[in-house]
Amino acid sequence: MIYLYYSEKFQAYNFGPEHPFNPARLMLAYKLMEEEGQIDDLTCKVEPKPAGEADLERVHTPEYIASVQAEVPDLAFGLGSDDTPVFPGIYEASRLLAGGSIDAARRIIAEDCCAFNIGGGLHHAMPSQAAGFCVFDDPALAICVLKERFKRVLYIDIDGHHGDGVQQIFYEDPDVLTVSLHESGLYLFPGTGFIDEIGSGRGLGYSVNIPMPMYAGDEEYRRAFEEIVPRLFDWFRPLAVVAQLGVDTHYSDPLTTLNMTLAGYTDLVQRIIELTRLHAGGRLLALGGGGYNMEVVPVAFASVLHLMRGEPLPEYLPPYWVEFFMNLVEREPLALPDIEIKVGAETKKRITTELEVTLQGLKEKVNEIHKVF
Ligand SMILES: [Zn+2]
Repeated sequence: MIYLYYSEKFQAYNFGPEHPFNPARLMLAYKLMEEEGQIDDLTCKVEPKPAGEADLERVHTPEYIASVQAEVPDLAFGLGSDDTPVFPGIYEASRLLAGGSIDAARRIIAEDCCAFNIGGGLHHAMPSQAAGFCVFDDPALAICVLKERFKRVLYIDIDGHHGDGVQQIFYEDPDVLTVSLHESGLYLFPGTGFIDEIGSGRGLGYSVNIPMPMYAGDEEYRRAFEEIVPRLFDWFRPLAVVAQLGVDTHYSDPLTTLNMTLAGYTDLVQRIIELTRLHAGGRLLALGGGGYNMEVVPVAFASVLHLMRGEPLPEYLPPYWVEFFMNLVEREPLALPDIEIKVGAETKKRITTELEVTLQGLKEKVNEIHKVF
């Protein structure tokens, strides 16, 4: 059974009409899943419940939670910035998204199943700081729940941005291996996620970062993933996996400078599913995340569900949904198959060299602590 977390109330997590984190992308994703016939005996749709204060306190400080509850801008807590403005109902909306991931983790503990919270993946939130559109760190909250039963949890993050909040929360924890592939912090928010951020104290060697060059595409992502991630699964032997599946790596995304296609993205997701089956009994908690082109996110998230169900990806989008999309967004959705982006020869050479240096350096750093590669 696959538990799919979605609520129409996710629409309330809304920073305003000019903000890129548009909640309509989740509604469009769920409608596409429905229209494709994916909500059936194999996929159980669950209406999430809001996270309670005791659950939020597993990661967040009481002072920070109280500040979100007050719904008044307070930059000391990162609330009210351009990225993460305060809106009426921010506390309720934020704890509903978090509640989905927490409940999904409890289902995995109880039933050895897998789950997908399309509204989750808010990986930039810190214990007492909102950041980068994220208020409560639902991946970290879910990991805390999974740790009640599973000794080792692997967190993998393929969002275009570094999963800095989750990394920081488990930076000294050897039972949680965090792995993030993202556009290098040299070029992109949050400016972290370099190869020398490797954990500290008992957690030394349990944070792994693969900063990708600008314009990296499917080929570079595939190479980076295959050279690093399967070995980490082998070595760490996770008992459960949490995956942040933001799709802002897409070439059309307005916030990043990466060149992934949907095919490249779904290949990575498929590999995460395979590795989780091989090493962790299929206990996968998939979470949404970034993705700021409304044409891409619904198709990407609906594809994730197909892959979790073990189905081939559809070759076209259902006409009823296309019409619905066009009426709402006033554009055509992405045509399938997605195009392959070609960069110039010089750029390709620069990307390849930068990536080789990164991967070599990363392997050396990790090997200084544990013999993994
Ligand atoms: Zn992102």
